[in-house]
Order: sequence, then C-alpha cells, then structure tokens
Amino acid sequence: MRGCVASPRQAILSRMSPQPGLSPNLQHLETSATIAISQEAKRRKAAGEDVIDLGAGEPDFATPSIPADAGVRAIREGKTHYPANEGILELRAAAAKHLSLLSGGRPVNADNIVVSNGSKQSLFNVCFALFGPGDVVAIPAPAWVSYPQIVHLSRARPVLVPGEPEWSLKVSVRDLDRVVPGARGLILCSPCNPTGAVYTHAEIKAIAQWARDRKVWVIADEIYRRIHYGTGPAPSFLDLPDEMLERVVVIYGVSKAYAMTGWRIGLALAPGALAKAMAALQSHTTTGANHPAQVAAAAALGDDRVEQDVSRMVAEFRKRRDVVVGRFRQELPGVEFVEPLGAFYFFFRVNSFGGIGGAEFCTRLITTTGVALVPGAAFGDDRYVRLSYAASLDNLQKALDRIIGFAKKLSD
Ligand code: PMP
Ligand code: GLU
Repeated sequence: MRGCVASPRQAILSRMSPQPGLSPNLQHLETSATIAISQEAKRRKAAGEDVIDLGAGEPDFATPSIPADAGVRAIREGKTHYPANEGILELRAAAAKHLSLLSGGRPVNADNIVVSNGSKQSLFNVCFALFGPGDVVAIPAPAWVSYPQIVHLSRARPVLVPGEPEWSLKVSVRDLDRVVPGARGLILCSPCNPTGAVYTHAEIKAIAQWARDRKVWVIADEIYRRIHYGTGPAPSFLDLPDEMLERVVVIYGVSKAYAMTGWRIGLALAPGALAKAMAALQSHTTTGANHPAQVAAAAALGDDRVEQDVSRMVAEFRKRRDVVVGRFRQELPGVEFVEPLGAFYFFFRVNSFGGIGGAEFCTRLITTTGVALVPGAAFGDDRYVRLSYAASLDNLQKALDRIIGFAKKLSD
C-alpha cells in the first residue's frame, strides 16, 4: 500500500488520508509506526549503513528448540490442513493449564479460549465483536500504536486517558471517571508497551471494580505478563475472583516471552458467548490460525522444560534493563523516565534536550548516529521516546554510547 518510508519522522507523520473510492472503514487508518520504523532500520542496514535498531518491539532470541521442533514435526506429520476455527484443542488445553498455573491454580476453561494469528488479531476480534458506532473505548496513554487503530476499525471512538507522570504514567479510576465516564470498553496493557510500567494487584482490582460497577468491558492485554522483573509473573486480571471477570477478556500469546513473533499465534480468554462470536468472526476471515504454528505454541505453553528458556530470556532482559537504567541515571542525570518493571521497553523524556520533541529527536538521532528509536508521538505523547532493549548487550552498549553522546550535545 505504501513504498519505503523515508524517515521515522515521516513514518509517524504520514497518514493515509481517506482515498476517493476507498471505504470509510479506513478513514482513520495509519501505518503502524513501530513496524514502519523497524522496516526503515532494515532498509538502511541493507543499504550498508551502520544502524542499531532499538525500535523493534520483538525479542532478538531464537525460538526455543522444543516449540521449534514441535512445529517442524507438525509439518512432517501432515498437520497442514485447516485447523478448527477457535484453535486446536491441544493448544487451548495447554494455554488453559498454563494460565491457571500462573494464577495460583484458578480454574481456566479451554472452551473460553480462542486462538488467532497473533494477539493483534485477538485484539481486533474482540473489538470488532464488542464495539461499534457510538461506543467510546478508553485507552490509557501512552498506549501501543495499534489500540486506537483497531478501535477505529470497529467504528467506535478511542479516547486516550493520559497517565500520571508521578505514577509511571499509569491511570487511576479517578482518571478514568474524569475522562471517559460513559465508556463501553477499556484496553489496559500491563506490563505496558511502551513504558514497561506494571499495574499492581491492588490497582488491577480497583480498575476491575470500577469497570464492573459501570458495566464496562475490560480488554486486559497481558502479552508481556511473563516478562516481569518482580517475583513471579506480573499481576493479572486472572488473579481476581470469577465474579469480577464477567466482562473481562484477557489477551495472551507466545510472541514475546517465547520469542515466537513470526509464528503469529495469539490467544483471547473471553466469556463463552463472546468467545463463540470471535471464533465465528474469524471463520470468515482467516479460518483460524496457522496449524503447525499452533502445535509449536502448544509445546511452548505445555512443555514444562520451556520454562527454563523463558527464565533465561527474562534474566537476560533484566540485565539489559539494568544497564540502560544505570547508564541513564549515571550519564544523563535529571532525564525523566518510567521505571521499567516489565516488558522490554524504556520510555524517557526528551524535551529537556534543547526543547525538541520525540519525532525530531528520533529523526536527528538516526540520521547522525544510526540508532533507531520510536518517537513518543506514536504512542500519544511526543515528549518521550521509546527504546526497546530487545537487543544484544554489545549493541545496546554501543547504541547507548551514541544516544548519550547525542543527547549531551543537544543539551550543550
Ligand atoms: N499487544 C502489545 C502490547 C504488543 O506490544 C504487541 C506487539 N506486537 C501485540 C499485542 C501483538 O503481538 P502479536 O500479534 O505478535 O501476538
Ligand atoms: N509490539 C511491537 C512494538 O510495539 C511490535 C510491532 C507491532 O506489532 O506494532 O514494537
């Protein structure tokens, strides 16, 4: 639909204006800025430039061998035919058991799980099934690029609710009441992309109660739940009792913690009628998700030995986080950032560097140093920039040398 992106700035600022002849379904459509920047970094690299890409939100690790081998075996064994719309039972059962174990053994019914082509499609299915014209969907901001787009595609209206700077840019029920008193839905991401902030159990409970009292649907995006730097997995809506979950959909998947982005497998755990509607919806769009990839994901979630791989990758992410945070504290004291407690993102403020915004910062950074980051504008707040530390420690150190040198020059 669009050719090569010329610069991150253009990638952010260019939007698809409604084209004559195209449906109003697409009237708000913009290319995903995170994907565009990662493609721009790849293009520059292919052209021979010395580029370090800290834009991409995807693990740099190989898929662990147990799920990878299971996927290959599935192809050899002929699991290459249409899968069930809602996903193969082997994966739904493994996911139900896995989610149950993460939340202290609570019951999780495999019948309420729908498997899709990545959790991005799960989010689309949920929004498309629940929302429509006239509905307002609250999205705490900064927010991952695709949430407002997906809500627009369902013809509902996304409303960003700014998070509180002194509270890791998280929102409270007071913020929600103030900004979106009549919302039909709320999309909450914890651990959060782009900030790395994590909602505590008490905060999740308060938001769940707020939503329950107002009959608001909660879409809890917990794709980064296993990448948590506290003890155990990050707090979840699934840690709450059943009666709090009547209008809650939990989004999960294997892309991030299992380094399986390219396999394209995501999950939604939803109340029965909604799960059925989502499966019916995708029976007309994708006929379920890639069959061998579902077998691989079942091995990722179902084989206990894979836990060691996840722990190893999370420990590596933690090391990298400590390096980024340590170097910013030491070498750029006074620069504000969100303390990252999960995921693999570092969200820092740039407007103290000579008064420029995130888009300008990122454009000049990639042009002069070859480091690719994502402007905060992509997430609704251009005072910030997102750095993804899903990169080797060597590359990270090199990139930090360049970012810190660049930022110091800007402040001179
Ligand atoms: N939610 C969040 C917050 C993300 O960062 C991503 C990253 N792509 C997704 C959902 C979708 O991931 P996937 O489609 O690979 O499961
Ligand atoms: N979620 C990742 C990111 O934010 C991957 C890109 C995308 O799907 O938007 O960078």
